[in-house]
Amino acid sequence: MSVDAARLQSLTQEFLAAHPVATTPREEFLSARFDAGLAWVHYPKGLGGLDAPRALQAVVDAELETAGAPDNDPRRNGIGLGMAAPTILRYGTDEQKQRFLKPLWTGAEVWCQLFSEPGAGSDLAALGTRAVREGDDWIVNGQKVWTSGAHNARFAILIARTDPDVPKHRGITYFVCDMTDPGVEVRPLRQITGEAEFNEVFLTDVKIPDAHRLGEIGDGWKVAQTTLNNERVAIGGMRIPREGGLVGIVADTWRERPELRTHDLHQRLMTLWVEAEVARLTGERLRQQLVAGHPGPEGAGMKLGFARLNQQISGLELELLGEEGLLYDDWTMRRPEIVDFAGRDAGYRYLRAKGNSIEGGTSEVLLNIVAERVLGLPPEPRTDKDVAWKDLSR
Ligand SMILES: Cc1cc2nc3c(=O)[nH]c(=O)nc-3n(C[C@H](O)[C@H](O)[C@H](O)COP(=O)(O)OP(=O)(O)OC[C@H]3O[C@@H](n4cnc5c(N)ncnc54)[C@H](O)[C@@H]3O)c2cc1C
Repeated sequence: MSVDAARLQSLTQEFLAAHPVATTPREEFLSARFDAGLAWVHYPKGLGGLDAPRALQAVVDAELETAGAPDNDPRRNGIGLGMAAPTILRYGTDEQKQRFLKPLWTGAEVWCQLFSEPGAGSDLAALGTRAVREGDDWIVNGQKVWTSGAHNARFAILIARTDPDVPKHRGITYFVCDMTDPGVEVRPLRQITGEAEFNEVFLTDVKIPDAHRLGEIGDGWKVAQTTLNNERVAIGGMRIPREGGLVGIVADTWRERPELRTHDLHQRLMTLWVEAEVARLTGERLRQQLVAGHPGPEGAGMKLGFARLNQQISGLELELLGEEGLLYDDWTMRRPEIVDFAGRDAGYRYLRAKGNSIEGGTSEVLLNIVAERVLGLPPEPRTDKDVAWKDLSR
């Protein structure tokens, strides 16, 4: 019997009666919620879900929120929840799903993403980190960069080259890397805000059991598409209320500080408000189309719009605040656990939004994806697609 909204509501109420919010410790509550299938309802039974339509998660969340229940603090584990989990769900073995999904969802194990390299960002398939088979293990050597949250992570999703003799897209394999392995070295990287939210990660003779391979050997590029398509939705497609997000912050300032207003800024704020609302509704529609967490290239369009809006709105906020907007705290080398646009000041928002058009694929690259895979326009010429990776000039 498929689960509908009314059934989910009563299941959540029964769960709350059996696990009173006031007396159940947080970890116990989250663990029991996962076991009850109320974690992510569109996941399979036994893996935190009930095979229910994804859109019905809102019913559970609303019921739990009204009861004041603790959540899994999703911002702490955005890469785990938004990218690693759907990839494990799609490509993982039963053992991998059982091992990784529950502590990932509860937040007991935070994940990071070891994809980008100094010579492979937009052209990710050119990556050079090597994984060489040795018995039941893979020995990994190389360097990754811009790894958000690596300093807090227990596991990473990692792509590495396992066959240099075939064209670049074909010789890649996808792994789960244990960040506590002695060969993993994490070094902070300072970004434009002054903080060190991301890192360089050096991998020296890191031993990864073959049991931690996701998908077939050489199929890593295909597996990574699931991660990347989900990344764009995770970054650009968050559910927010009407006038939520950055536009809500600026609109509040506009209402509360009449002395800052000018006619020109009013027109621009109205235009951005409407665009933010259109983006929000488009996101809702996209989410309703997702069946089991496997979005297609349409997420690229969402992420494009999100980056552009965030940069324009945070820029408008600085103009509105005038000199006040230029003040900012000393954030030098702070290691934040979350990216918190709402809880910080205007200067932070303006600077941090710059990264939105780079992280998860640059806007230029996303435009290419929309052109080729959504609109069906002719692809860019790719002269290297039949050349063995080892013969490419780097
Ligand atoms: C805040 C932040 C967090 C990040 N977190 C992570 C993380 O956790 N894990 C991870 O693996 N990576 C992460 N990244 C890295 C990010 O994915 C890369 O920076 C991004 O893919 C771009 O790669 P690159 O920096 O090598 O730039 P390049 O690929 O060198 O691009 C340089 C410029 O060339 C343009 N360009 C490149 N190719 C094309 C093309 N074909 N057509 C048109 N223009 C093109 C780009 O748009 C860009 O303007 C993060 C980045 C940021 C900013």
